[in-house]
Amino acid sequence: MIRAVIVAVGREILRGRIQDTNSWTLARRLTGLGYEVMRTVACDDDRPTIAREIRRAIEDGASLILTTGGLGPTDDDLTLQALAEATGRPLVLDQEARRMVDSRYAALHRAGAVEAAGMTRAREKMAWIPGGARPLPNPVGTAPGVWLEEGGTTVVALPGVPGEMAAILEGSVLPALASRQPGAVYVERRITTEARDESEVAPVLRRIARDVPEVFLKSHPTRFGADVRLQVFASTWAGDRTVAEERVARALALLREALGEAPPGR
Ligand code: ATP
Ligand code: MG
Repeated sequence: MIRAVIVAVGREILRGRIQDTNSWTLARRLTGLGYEVMRTVACDDDRPTIAREIRRAIEDGASLILTTGGLGPTDDDLTLQALAEATGRPLVLDQEARRMVDSRYAALHRAGAVEAAGMTRAREKMAWIPGGARPLPNPVGTAPGVWLEEGGTTVVALPGVPGEMAAILEGSVLPALASRQPGAVYVERRITTEARDESEVAPVLRRIARDVPEVFLKSHPTRFGADVRLQVFASTWAGDRTVAEERVARALALLREALGEAPPGR
């Protein structure tokens, strides 16, 4: 299993001002690629705190760490300083990153979106990246993403603005990750059972989990009150899709046998 950790950086998440949709997007996309996301965490715009989360993920054996937020030009954008600290590297002015930032501001200037073209100290800040890292082009905003290999762990820092994050993710990160072929496929299916009482379902799920131990089963009540229905999700990872599909199918067959399946639309 290739394990991943997502670190969403931003005080606004902790204050409840914005919803952390980036972690949701990243978790969904990584799972689809066959990664096991072992943790998503939101943390403050604080250098030691961000560095601690990155180190913790490395120590926990994550092969991939994705961060979002904190790449911008302002003083509270601290993710790259934290990444440098966590991996014991200096921040260096990367010429390719500098060219990326420069050409983005030139384009924004031509489009009338910013008053001045050219480099300023604040703009140049976005081109200071940890030594040995490489910048990833940001086709939508100004701050490049950053890709860093640290021992057996890949760390990718993405911007916080969801459209920018998604553009770098889809344009640079997912293609590179897919070509590594993580060697695991994730399959998830769900059924709506006839069962109405989650407490009755628990022993059934335990029994099926003993029969098909590779399949993870999770029940969710849908609708409440008199019309309660229990959905059960069955998911697994396997080396190839056929094996994964077969395992999940087996678990679902046992579930149907034990709990029944509600007709569609119920
Ligand atoms: P910028 O270059 O715009 O400063 P940044 O990488 O520094 O980008 P942040 O300053 O952390 O990103 O966040 C910019 C905005 O993006 C936030 O105000 C918020 O609206 C949005 N945002 C940040 N993090 C998230 C997140 N995890 N989920 C959804 N939206 C987010
Ligand atoms: Mg910012």
